[in-house]
Amino acid sequence: MSWLTQANACPGVFYGTRAQDGFLLRIRIPAGTLHLNQLKVIANLLTTLQCDQVQVTNRANLQIRGVQRAIDLSELNQLQAVGLAATHPQTDHLRNLMASPTAGIDSEELLDTRPCIQQIDQFLQQHPEYGELSAKFSIGLDGGGSVGIGTRSPVAWEHRLNDVQLTAIQTNQQEIPFLLQLAVKKQLIDTGYIITSDQLLPTIASLTAIYYEYSNQEAKAGRQGKPRLHSLIENLGLEQFLQVIQERSQQSLETTQQSLPVSRPYRQFGCYPQSNPDLFYLGIRSFLGQITGSQLTALIKILEALNCQEIRLTPWQSLIIPNLNKSEVIEAQQRFQELGFATTAKEPVIIACAGHPVCQAAIAPTQPLAERLQQAIDQVCRVLDPINIHISACSKFCAQSSPAEITILAADSPEEQKPNERYNIFFGDSARFDRISGPSLSFHQVISFITEVLKRYQEYRQSTSESLVQFLLRSQFDLNAIVPVLL
Ligand code: SF4
Repeated sequence: MSWLTQANACPGVFYGTRAQDGFLLRIRIPAGTLHLNQLKVIANLLTTLQCDQVQVTNRANLQIRGVQRAIDLSELNQLQAVGLAATHPQTDHLRNLMASPTAGIDSEELLDTRPCIQQIDQFLQQHPEYGELSAKFSIGLDGGGSVGIGTRSPVAWEHRLNDVQLTAIQTNQQEIPFLLQLAVKKQLIDTGYIITSDQLLPTIASLTAIYYEYSNQEAKAGRQGKPRLHSLIENLGLEQFLQVIQERSQQSLETTQQSLPVSRPYRQFGCYPQSNPDLFYLGIRSFLGQITGSQLTALIKILEALNCQEIRLTPWQSLIIPNLNKSEVIEAQQRFQELGFATTAKEPVIIACAGHPVCQAAIAPTQPLAERLQQAIDQVCRVLDPINIHISACSKFCAQSSPAEITILAADSPEEQKPNERYNIFFGDSARFDRISGPSLSFHQVISFITEVLKRYQEYRQSTSESLVQFLLRSQFDLNAIVPVLL
């Protein structure tokens, strides 16, 4: 297979990464905004690649699995023509720009971040030399509204980390600035520095230039792999790093004591009024963010009928359909439900990595487990909340880095036997595992066990505001006591 750029740790459209079912391609969508004409190009690409589905990722991008050939030049030209691929192939992986999916329509946002995203995207695209940077370099912009990326949500599993996080914040200044946070040791560190819209591009430009120089130094020193931004920050120290950025951009950044506004959990799912109260957005989701070719074609038809020109992908692997009139909401909900999408925030959100046999690092299957678990929950439980269940086949947790309410992790196999269909279960969302460990179970036991726990939670919780973990802690629920019932 010959690709147009060198292979990278992360897939793109100019190069695919090998998996057991073929190659994996990723189309990066800055801020997750997709226009109708782009959706049509993607639907067409699925047909020509003979792939049956596309998946929304946890960075609000799209990926196609099981690809058996490299994209050809005419397909690439089409992607570039509609803005789905970078003009310079070597910078395609820098389109890791995440924004709140309700940017510009959020009824509570302080700032519309879309123009800033566009500026940063253009800047990075104009610097092909930055293609040397790690494919994981990422920037997040959050307008401070009801749907927040970063760590503003009180529900930990909704958190989404980027190397650089900029969140609009209310200060005593007239203009709304961004608070700068930087990712170090898998956490966002609040720098206390604020950046106005005018300072934004010079700050990003100097930060990227310094990072680029560091990457080059490391390469010259013979270090393997492309360094992440956090290793530069750890090397230099946070204060020194911030000082160098200011000197390089010849600007002095102000600081604030102000804390970030809290976002509203689950506002990415369901129907809510926009900043223009005559218009509504509808958050919909499919199983594991997967959209089949026929669903995509039908989705395009519905959007055309609604005269809706764009959708937003969310970093929770779902979609937002913006700008619906009140009279269109009910019909749109019905049509998306008929198409197999959930249209409310009332069901559990299951996330699963690729697992065995697709990923070579995987010890156990995850997606078939997710599917069976979803079916069992749908049949048995009248679950009232979007409880997050994360299934991972190894501790890299690539499908979701934030802690889930229920984590199902493939158990190590002492005999290194693959697949090893045993899983450990953990409950808790405030730290990776909230120290409530469940039993180690087989594929089928996991399904019975989780549905049983959810049933009891529904039946015995004190109020609808009592979370699953609060319920387990309060009731001193004996998880292991359920297991014999399942055997
Ligand atoms: S979490 Fe581990 S097993 Fe799952 S896809 Fe990532 S690397 Fe593979």
